[in-house]
Amino acid sequence: MMIVFSDDFMKHEPPSYHPENPKRLELIIRGLRSNGLDYMLTGCECSADIRDAAVTVHSDSYVSYILRKLRDAPTWLDEDTYLSTGSEQAIKRALGCSVCFAERALNGEKITAFLLVRPPGHHAGINGVAMGSNSLGFCIFNNAAIVAKLLSQKGNVFMLDFDSHHGNGTQEIFYTDKKVIHLDIHQHPGTLYPGTGWPDQTGEGEARGTKLNIILPPGASDDIIEDVLSRMDLYLQRFSFDYIVVSAGFDAFLNDGLANLRLTEISYYNLGSYIRSIGKDKPIIVLLEGGYSVGLERGVPAFVKGLSGLSKSNEWLQTRSDDRAWVKYHSWREEYEGYILGLSG
Ligand SMILES: [Zn+2]
Repeated sequence: MMIVFSDDFMKHEPPSYHPENPKRLELIIRGLRSNGLDYMLTGCECSADIRDAAVTVHSDSYVSYILRKLRDAPTWLDEDTYLSTGSEQAIKRALGCSVCFAERALNGEKITAFLLVRPPGHHAGINGVAMGSNSLGFCIFNNAAIVAKLLSQKGNVFMLDFDSHHGNGTQEIFYTDKKVIHLDIHQHPGTLYPGTGWPDQTGEGEARGTKLNIILPPGASDDIIEDVLSRMDLYLQRFSFDYIVVSAGFDAFLNDGLANLRLTEISYYNLGSYIRSIGKDKPIIVLLEGGYSVGLERGVPAFVKGLSGLSKSNEWLQTRSDDRAWVKYHSWREEYEGYILGLSG
């Protein structure tokens, strides 16, 4: 397994304090080092023409708008989302590495790669702000969607997004595309930005049923994720796929800061391990989305251990959801499983 880092990913820098900042990657590297996993780190020199790469999934007008705004940097795109003078370089490298690794997978290499790209992407839709949300949520171009779109030329793609926020940009981009099965696990849209990712949002036309939204109650802990993972095979039984793309966010970690979930190393290890189990004979490309503090330093190494088949630490302590969270989880699970299993229309 490769963990792909470039100094350029650090060059997207906020003008003042902002949770999405270059220190996030320092936290990841520190976590990898203290877990003895830094030997997996590798560089990436690939660069892309921003327009060529971005129009894979975004509209011409949105790409032109961002290119214009990059010339005005430092600037804000909305109250959440900034561009700095180094953003262009960061974006070029993030898109370049995303395209390069997609090409390696298309050429038949059975790679497992985790790209530590910044800025993140899963809230960026076709025209930027997606599905009626009110901002780009720190995202500029949807790196993971670009990878999935490229891979879908040669086969079906299973896209898993476990960031605590719904990947509304990704869902919008593939809403009518049946070649990309998008399963998104996120905190209930009524309780967290961007307010999308409802169970009945299942895709349109021939893609109907290929978008799966799993909603978690605030307070959901490792025990609920264990239940979700134990049902994943059931959710995926209708599908076959050739590639796996993961939008990996670590902001559901207990006290990471932006969400109300209580996951620990145990859930991230189990997510990594589950992806490994379904991806044995398939290329797996993982792209960094959110995660702002402890989730990066502790969640990323645990995820990497699970994904690369290393053993779990017995020092990890499992969090447990309270009764209220379980009651909500059970009732919402019944609702979304109706859609996922094709029982509700
Ligand atoms: Zn997030």
